[in-house]
Amino acid sequence: MIQFQQVSKYFHGKPAVEDLNLNIAAGEFTVLIGTSGSGKSTTLKMINRLIEHDRGKILFAGDEIHSFKPQELRRRMGYAIQSIGLFPHWTVEQNIATVPQLLKWPRGKIRDRVTELLELLHLDAAQFRGRYPHQLSGGQQQRVGVARALAADPEVLLMDEPFGALDPVTRGALQLEIARIHQLSGRTIVLVTHDIDEALALADRIVLLDQGKIVQQGSPRHLLTQPANAFVRHFFGQNDIGIKLLGLGAAGDRAHKGERLEGK
Ligand code: ADP
Repeated sequence: MIQFQQVSKYFHGKPAVEDLNLNIAAGEFTVLIGTSGSGKSTTLKMINRLIEHDRGKILFAGDEIHSFKPQELRRRMGYAIQSIGLFPHWTVEQNIATVPQLLKWPRGKIRDRVTELLELLHLDAAQFRGRYPHQLSGGQQQRVGVARALAADPEVLLMDEPFGALDPVTRGALQLEIARIHQLSGRTIVLVTHDIDEALALADRIVLLDQGKIVQQGSPRHLLTQPANAFVRHFFGQNDIGIKLLGLGAAGDRAHKGERLEGK
């Protein structure tokens, strides 16, 4: 679905990511993890051309990313990010409808889609569609942000720390929602986080980055049981979800993600 072949990006002559090789299969939940400045956001933004890569090739559905018009990428790839908030003077409905409006969907279809998404994210549509962002809690705003990213039914969902700055309970609830949406829709998801528990709980495949390079990639279980080096071993260390995942035995990789998150 998404392939990086020897991809590099430089800022002021310094590599932000270098010689990245990545192969994200359709329907896979991939988590990009690493410390701050390791190149996660840059990698994510190169997928939808918010950042243009300098070297190598990026393919989407078999074609070079450059052959797609930005508008087509906006339609086919939803993007949710913590720091780009909702438009403050627009209602929840108008915010969610951003991309469908651009695509000139009929009004009735947009309205139905907004209702469907609010219900999917456990927000009562009648109550919430007319509200403004300042009338929502942080967790509700994040839900609307995810709904906005899903609005045009994209094949790929890209998320950059979408649950950042939330309290642990709301964060856990939203993680469960995302796991459920992934299981329901089989969408390809790429999530950036620096939260190890989140990565272990949600990922089919984890890509661990350090200083712009991939240190190791594989299933959570693989990284926990066969760390490529001491960096990987220390990075994941000992934590509850990891131990639980290993406790699930061979079924761990396939286990329902809700099971991994349960009782976190
Ligand atoms: P992460 O998401 O893992 O925190 P980033 O991808 O944001 O890392 O950044 C990787 C490196 O690229 C960092 O050294 C960062 O300072 C640099 N970088 C990212 N964006 C820019 C930019 N717009 N201008 C200059 N340097 C940047």
